Amino acid sequence: MTDIQFSGDKVVADFIIHNLAVAVIYPEPYRGQGTAVGWEVEEQKEVSIASFKGVIVWIGPSADLSDHVMIAADARFYNGEGLLATPGFVDSHTHLVYAGDRSDEFEMRVQGRPYLDILAAGGGILRTTGAIRDLAEDVIYEESAFRLESAMEWGVTTIEIKTGYGLDLKNELKMLRVIDRLRRDYPARIVATFMGAHAVPAEHRENPDQFVDEICNVWIPEVARLKLAKFNDVFTENKAFSVEQSRKVLEAGLKHGLKAKIHADEVNVLGGVDLAVELGCTSADHLLMTGDEGIAKLKESGVIPTVLPGTSTYLMESHHAPARKMIEAGLPLAIASDHNPGSCQFLGAGIIQSLAMLQLKMSSSEALIAQTLHAAHALAMGEDIGAIEVGRRMDIALFELDSFRQIGYRVGQNFLHDLIIDGQPVFSGEVE
Ligand SMILES: [Zn+2]
Repeated sequence: MTDIQFSGDKVVADFIIHNLAVAVIYPEPYRGQGTAVGWEVEEQKEVSIASFKGVIVWIGPSADLSDHVMIAADARFYNGEGLLATPGFVDSHTHLVYAGDRSDEFEMRVQGRPYLDILAAGGGILRTTGAIRDLAEDVIYEESAFRLESAMEWGVTTIEIKTGYGLDLKNELKMLRVIDRLRRDYPARIVATFMGAHAVPAEHRENPDQFVDEICNVWIPEVARLKLAKFNDVFTENKAFSVEQSRKVLEAGLKHGLKAKIHADEVNVLGGVDLAVELGCTSADHLLMTGDEGIAKLKESGVIPTVLPGTSTYLMESHHAPARKMIEAGLPLAIASDHNPGSCQFLGAGIIQSLAMLQLKMSSSEALIAQTLHAAHALAMGEDIGAIEVGRRMDIALFELDSFRQIGYRVGQNFLHDLIIDGQPVFSGEVE
């Protein structure tokens, strides 16, 4: 946390959103390992939020601003009249960097064609691998930048992006460079995850263990050396990597300073959750099939369970992740988009919130907290972002709505007015 400066008994601010109609505050924010209890939010009316050097220093009634806040000489004001302020959304699980079109696969699936038919027609993850290997870095960048802008237009201020379509070192590094370029070109906080162990490419089909060794012994050390990723992720599933292979990949990452994430229990319960608990993964994601035993283990662990209602909807699953059970067990549940070219094209944060309500039976406040504060914890950033609270970064989504409850309710309609990231307006620049 940055030091908060005082002048007399007033706190110094250089950016103020004043006269907000409503600001959403979390009275009991999750603070790390333990039980999530604060699933209710508070809507404060007629408030102002002040920040200094991108850190929130004061939140209170607009009428009290001048009594408590010393306005720096070069301070800027943002008129919040009629606006709702929520924490900026955190999308903690995406595969946003890719290229190409797989709409034909979507249509085949909608028509009930089995996955094997789709694979036989050249579909699946490896189809995107072909595109990533064939296309120039600039083309992949342009396609991905368009999607990043779209995510931001829906209120996302922090987004995680995984590799995993290159599936050889050269093309995995190409993906990491695209992510890094996005990070430098856009104000959104972008968190890179290396996911070499996403699928076994055709050239390694005969010997997947050798592929895993290559990831562990060559790719991960190189990715770590270049400092291009924060996390290392693996797809633990029958059609992908076994628990033993996954352990090797995640341990190799941990050894080189990459924090661990895991895709677990999406189709089969193989032991991905046990592995996540054993290795202290930052998050375990998907969890469609996770049962009571897995929930009990997660409860003791501090691993952030992350569920992806867009994917189970897009794949027309009859079953969704047991979000209600997880919340009732006290888990600090996060939700994310899982935006990717094959199994989930949902992207807008508001739509993900609607799906969390419709499919996972979450309340609007549960969905909001899961998509901001808990998602921030899923990126090991839970102390810095994800809530409107003194000491956290000034990352805020401003909506032309009366209440946060309307975000999920007005399905597919986008009421975002502006984003503030680090105390800087992103879209309108409406600063006085
Ligand atoms: Zn994923």
